[in-house]
Amino acid sequence: MDVKTRAREVCEGVGDKLIALSHRIHAHPELGFEERQAARWLCEALADSGFAVETPLCDLETAFVARAGSGPLHVAICAEYDCLPGIGHACGHNIIAATALGAGIAAAGIADEVGLRLSVIGTPAEEVGNNGGKILLLERGAFAGVHAAMMVHPAPIDLLRPAMLANSTFDVHYTGKEAHASGFPELGINAADALTVAQTAIGLLRQHMRPTDRVHGIVTKGGDAPNIVPAHTSATFMVRAETLRDLNDIRGKVFRCFEAGALATGAKLEIVGGDKPYAEMVHDGEIAELYRGNAERLGRRFVEWPGMQRAAASTDMGNVSLAIPAIHPLIGIDSLPAVNHQPEFTAHCVTGAADKAVLDGSIAMAWTLIDMARDSGLCTRLTGRV
Ligand SMILES: [Zn+2]
Ligand SMILES: [Zn+2]
Repeated sequence: MDVKTRAREVCEGVGDKLIALSHRIHAHPELGFEERQAARWLCEALADSGFAVETPLCDLETAFVARAGSGPLHVAICAEYDCLPGIGHACGHNIIAATALGAGIAAAGIADEVGLRLSVIGTPAEEVGNNGGKILLLERGAFAGVHAAMMVHPAPIDLLRPAMLANSTFDVHYTGKEAHASGFPELGINAADALTVAQTAIGLLRQHMRPTDRVHGIVTKGGDAPNIVPAHTSATFMVRAETLRDLNDIRGKVFRCFEAGALATGAKLEIVGGDKPYAEMVHDGEIAELYRGNAERLGRRFVEWPGMQRAAASTDMGNVSLAIPAIHPLIGIDSLPAVNHQPEFTAHCVTGAADKAVLDGSIAMAWTLIDMARDSGLCTRLTGRV
């Protein structure tokens, strides 16, 4: 029997198990770096399928690597499994986890035959926006010796090479001085006004931003009572741009807006985080085309969506893609008008279409791994061996 047919049959054979895991992670959402159950369930399932599992990994409690095969081409499949605060698995990382497991199990069965070495890497905390799990794992050597990396991410529709922006997430803190807001306001320093000035300045900055730049944030602390001049306020902001270089430029301008708030009010400004930004995603064209062919063979259709460049998020897979050839296609779960980071999308991540995405994503990745291992030109490029 053809090796791809066998890989598909393995995926279909464990299909119920993959879907059960997807639903179980969805029903028990865990925030970044706290995904203890999801990581454990994945490690158990991978160990049951013959993988050698190492966890914790690189001093990260909820990270792991599961290894199989000893071929010359070493490919990593990345699993994400963190949720969003308040709205659960509204980014469908339960589907990412299950597809990584499915592709891993299917490819492990034929790894030595086709010449693959596999690492399923459990990468925590993608949603945190700064110093995400993959950035820490990259720095600490978890991807050392890996020739290429891949994952699929759920979305309303299938997109082969989604635009993914560089992103810096940071906290802003202003410290002013309390005073009776009516009796002695002249003795207060208003830290909430500092935030208002900063946000007004950012609003004006928008005229001068590139169309691909983004700034958005929330106030996480605005004060304690209306009759106390706010002395401590905080916000969390994200700044995004097409590349890390553009990001550096726009982030400097945004920081000046926060400085303006401090200058205008006399409050003290502190900015925390933003030091380990997410990089833009560079999709490896050759691997992406192999994935396209396999996904289309399963009946998937990639849309050239006019809003594609506008609908850009960010991922720490971008950092992986700058270090190692990588792909990060989006797999559709037929959710429109519901989109990622909406509670309605959370509900869509366990529908029949979501479960089909788990199976299709698993098979398409496993087939892509087979194609990669059999393509001597690609192997030479990826491994650097002639
Ligand atoms: Zn997300
Ligand atoms: Zn996501």
